[in-house]
Formats: sequence, structure tokens, C-alpha cells
Amino acid sequence: MQVVRARIAAAARAAGREPDAIRLLAVSKTFAAQAVRAAHAAGQREFGENYVQEGVEKIATLSALPLAWHFIGPIQSNKTRPIAEHFDWVHSVAREKIALRLSQARPEGLGSLDICLQVNVSGEASKSGVPPEEVQALAEAVRALPRLRLRGLMAVPEPSDDVELQRRRFRDLRLLLEQLNRAGFGLDTLSMGMSQDLEAAIMEGATIVRVGTAIFGERKQA
Ligand SMILES: *Cc1c(COP(=O)(O)O)cnc(C)c1O
Repeated sequence: MQVVRARIAAAARAAGREPDAIRLLAVSKTFAAQAVRAAHAAGQREFGENYVQEGVEKIATLSALPLAWHFIGPIQSNKTRPIAEHFDWVHSVAREKIALRLSQARPEGLGSLDICLQVNVSGEASKSGVPPEEVQALAEAVRALPRLRLRGLMAVPEPSDDVELQRRRFRDLRLLLEQLNRAGFGLDTLSMGMSQDLEAAIMEGATIVRVGTAIFGERKQA
């Protein structure tokens, strides 16, 4: 945890940004509630999960702790209700139908569900995410839904050791966000950067980095 915080701070300084402008999302998928407890004890408050059932169970186990939970995995339409009922954020919205179902299932007693649209910035190399040319139409649809609050964009580029390629993908996402904001969306979130590429993401303006392996260690399954 401290190593990752130091990486974020160093990258922020190199980019001429305030370290506080970058939130660390600890991706706890496949790790037990006990690992989340330990991270909480080390000061971490925001956690990311990819699998609905695993996430919901962990959220229930840890409900006494003041944590925020972000859903970052692929979303099947028959799983939108538990996501809307238990999570604070969803980063992986790529279809209008999913957004509509999340809005309909968001309980009145909870605040709006914070949403990022997942964008496919890698073209052929990635299957998840909305194509860049369809982002604005999806953003307009999501903005119109009453129980959702559109916050920004998210991407998972193809893994690469080439820092220039990493930066190019993240830059494309930032330019898309800027384009939406010129069209009046007022978005404040760029969810990009993981264990291998968080420095490149911070150089290109990430406001949330999603880090699993560098905090919790290698996962047993993918
Ligand atoms: C697993 C995952 C992460 C964390 O990846 P690491 O390489 O372990 O840091 C971040 N974002 C998403 C969408 C993930 O599925």
C-alpha cells in the first residue's frame, strides 16, 4: 500500500500534479475480506470488485467499516440489481440497456449511483467498452437517467510494456473526456491506470487509478 502511494506521489510530482488529485482504488477481487480489513487498517477506503457475488458478499461482511465500493467488471444484464443495491460506483458501463437497468434498480434510499463509461481505446485488441465514436450518444443517454450520476470515463487498454503506447491510449481517453466537457457534460473522473501502467495514466490525467496486484500480490486466477 505504501509502495503504491509512493509511486502515485512520484508520478504526480513528475506530471506537475497534486498527489491528492489522484484517488487510489484498491482492487480486491479474488482476495478475502481479511485482506480488505488489513488495507483499511493501513488507511485505504475505496475498493474495487469485478465479480458481483464475490463483491456483494465482501460488502456484507465488511458493512461495519466506512468503505466505498466500486464495481469495475463486465456487467450482465441479469446482475444489475445487486450492483445497483450494493455499490457506490460503477466504472464499466458500456451499453445503454445496462445503464437503464442500473437506474431502475437503484434504491430510492441511496444517493445516485456514480457512473463511468468504459471506452474501448485499443480497437481490435480489446472487446470491452463502447467504441470512441459512440461515447457521446451513450453519455447523453446516461445523463438522462434519474438515479445515475455520470462522472467520467474508464478504460483498460491492452497490456503493453511500451510506455509511449500506454500513454497514447490514456491520452485518447483524456481527449474524449475533454471533448465531452466541451459539449457541456462537466465530467470530473478519468479512471485509468493499473499496477503496470499507473505512471503513464497519471501523466495523462488519471483521477482514479485501479490497483490490485501491486497492493495485494498476484492473483491465483485471472
Ligand atoms: C483486475 C483489474 C484491475 C487491477 O489490475 P492489476 O493489474 O492487478 O493492478 C484494474 N481494473 C480492472 C478493470 C481490473 O479488472
